[in-house]
Amino acid sequence: MRIVITGVAGFLGSHLADHLLEQGHDVIGLDNFVTGRRENLAHLASNPNFTFIEHDVIAPINIHGDLDRIYHLASPCSTASYSRFQVEMLKTNSQGTWNMLELAEKKQARFLMASSSETYGDALIHPQREDYWGNVNPIGLRSMYDEGKRFAEACTMAYHRARGVDTRIVRIFSAYGPRMDIADGRVVINFIQAALTGRPITVYGDGRQTRSLCYVSDIIDGIALAMEADFHQPINLGNPEEVSILQIAREIRDLVPGCKSEITFQPMPPDDPRHRCPDISRAKQLLRWSPKIARTIGFQQMIDYYRQRMKISA
Ligand code: UDP
Repeated sequence: MRIVITGVAGFLGSHLADHLLEQGHDVIGLDNFVTGRRENLAHLASNPNFTFIEHDVIAPINIHGDLDRIYHLASPCSTASYSRFQVEMLKTNSQGTWNMLELAEKKQARFLMASSSETYGDALIHPQREDYWGNVNPIGLRSMYDEGKRFAEACTMAYHRARGVDTRIVRIFSAYGPRMDIADGRVVINFIQAALTGRPITVYGDGRQTRSLCYVSDIIDGIALAMEADFHQPINLGNPEEVSILQIAREIRDLVPGCKSEITFQPMPPDDPRHRCPDISRAKQLLRWSPKIARTIGFQQMIDYYRQRMKISA
């Protein structure tokens, strides 16, 4: 197939490109490098089946020839981006999604929108099922992302219902793994960086807030399966094993031999959801998918990757 990935230089986008190329597809990747990184694509430079176009999805694009699939992943998404790229986040998820749906309609390509557990906001039901409408602060510090993703979902469903575009939506819960941006500010990468350098591991709040972390290879398998399933409603992709932030800090510290990092506590950021846990019954039933990689294995893979990178840059 001939496949477009937006946000291809990002953490998930670059892993998805690897997966689809391994399956023998041709991949055309778009990114404007607002948060994506060139080094995530360096290994694909000489791959004849990969084409890169530097492009911001906020502007319309025409791609010559037929297209079979569009995976729309573009959007700044990290905690650091919430303050740095507020307007870009809104524009990418609104105008950017719109533009890519127009392309999907024109090319009669199947379209998948990468949505997020953030659409549930500070959820009042637990675990979160896809039919829960969420509890989002529309003017909060995360609203650009939460409402951006909610708008993108609405846009995707409108193109499906009104224009007959063959669409898919996945809601991704806390993916982690190699190639996450070290400056991202997200919990796993922050803790690993601290543990490897001996700096304090900073837990925000009392550390009893929870997340459900899913290793990147599991998420990529889920995304690719969702694209090929015949289902238009959102599908949660994540690991239902819920863990406290303090527990994550301890597990990462214990995996780094001789780690001298203390665990310290800092104030909780505003609008930080207390709990996050996906109900993945839908993915299990429709896609025969569930996560396979245990946290300790995933953390170890990441620790090895970042230790190696730190050696190279030292
Ligand atoms: N967090 C933390 N220390 C850090 C980074 C994050 O305690 O150095 C906490 C953060 O307050 C939140 C959780 O870890 O409760 C997950 O944060 P992250 O930014 O990774 O993702 P999100 O909040 O979007 O799920």
